[in-house]
Amino acid sequence: MSYCDISNTDHPMLAYEIALQEALSSVTSSPKIESILLQHSLGRVLANDVKSPMDVPPFSQSAMDGYAFNAADLERFQSLIIIGQSLAGHPFEGEVTQGQCVRIMTGAVLPVGCDSVIMQEEVNVDGKQMTPQVQVSSGQCVRACGNEYQQGELALKKGCLISSRHIALLASLGFQSIDVFNKLTVAIFSTGDELVELGTPIKQGQIYDSNRYSLIAQLEKLNCDVKDYGIIADCPEQIAAAFNIANSDADVVITSGGVSVGDADYTKEVLAKLGNIEFWKIAVKPGKPLAFGYLSDSVFLGLPGNPVSAMVTFDKVAKPVLQKLAGEISSTPLLQAARVSSSLRKRAGRLEFQRGYASTNEFGELIVSSTGSQGSGMVGSMCAANCYIVLPQEQGNVEAGETVLIELFAANLA
Ligand code: AMP
Ligand code: MG
Repeated sequence: MSYCDISNTDHPMLAYEIALQEALSSVTSSPKIESILLQHSLGRVLANDVKSPMDVPPFSQSAMDGYAFNAADLERFQSLIIIGQSLAGHPFEGEVTQGQCVRIMTGAVLPVGCDSVIMQEEVNVDGKQMTPQVQVSSGQCVRACGNEYQQGELALKKGCLISSRHIALLASLGFQSIDVFNKLTVAIFSTGDELVELGTPIKQGQIYDSNRYSLIAQLEKLNCDVKDYGIIADCPEQIAAAFNIANSDADVVITSGGVSVGDADYTKEVLAKLGNIEFWKIAVKPGKPLAFGYLSDSVFLGLPGNPVSAMVTFDKVAKPVLQKLAGEISSTPLLQAARVSSSLRKRAGRLEFQRGYASTNEFGELIVSSTGSQGSGMVGSMCAANCYIVLPQEQGNVEAGETVLIELFAANLA
């Protein structure tokens, strides 16, 4: 397939899905592996399938505080004799025979001869006699040995992004250390003579470099090792020098600015000499221009300069590419249907990630409203939002009350 030259305005734009697919299929992932302590593994990517080294639970145990017994006994006995106790970490050593039961606590070993547990709230106890007050069924309130994982069974897949939930499972399986893929090293710089570093007063015509900060923050959330090269002036020699250093230092080089059509944008010229880069005009809003390809030793992503465009193209294009390079299993974004509370302006022709605020009404329905002006330089629209309103390429205006698809920003228990 051929790509669009962004300076050629006659050329049709590339659909977002095609651009993403092209970018993803052209990068291959072969990260090195390191072994790390489990407590340092949050946000890392599993380098191997993890099989359970044991049955889980490792022994049949009680799910309740109560009494352990053999259910068949209750067909013959109204009451059972309490002959001992099984506490968590202190099993009952003997065997339970006909007409007997054992006081048992949650997590304690189910004694030999027992198959069921009745919770203490459902019995009468008189001295050594325990009388169930409710009907029982065989096997109740028991966590059977191996009922979650059997020894050797696959527990987590290679490429799994480790969250607190996965750490809980890995710890329960006894993994003190695990193999993960090495972190990606990502070099980043901003281009533009108008940009000023934080801490410096701005003069007429200047703005603060916000993209580098927002992109570094996104990269850190992805657990990348970030190399920050600061602001590079719009000067071919300085841009070339920065690219050369970044290329030798990092797996991926990300820039913002200088990929749109503009006289002072030297990035394209320099890149044309240094690597094999495509300049795409993607049918997506915000974030139309995007450069993607290879330098001699790194993958290159040139994001648009407008701050919202930079953030959204990072999220929707750069992030999946980085995740693939980091060895992570790909996942498709979770879209949800929501009703818009007011009309949305949209012109057919580009896929739009409008900024929205989603909430549930008193009936549990998902409702979304626009955060207002959607200018690609208005970072406040991102801050007021908790989701994208994802409007398909050919969609036109949306009326209040219509259903749209949204993608929430935050995920709990990450
Ligand atoms: P460009 O893509 O370089 O043509 O820039 C498009 C718009 O984004 C211009 O208004 C730039 O001033 C602005 N811009 C470019 N880079 C940054 C940056 N790092 N931080 C904030 N705004 C930027
Ligand atoms: Mg620029």
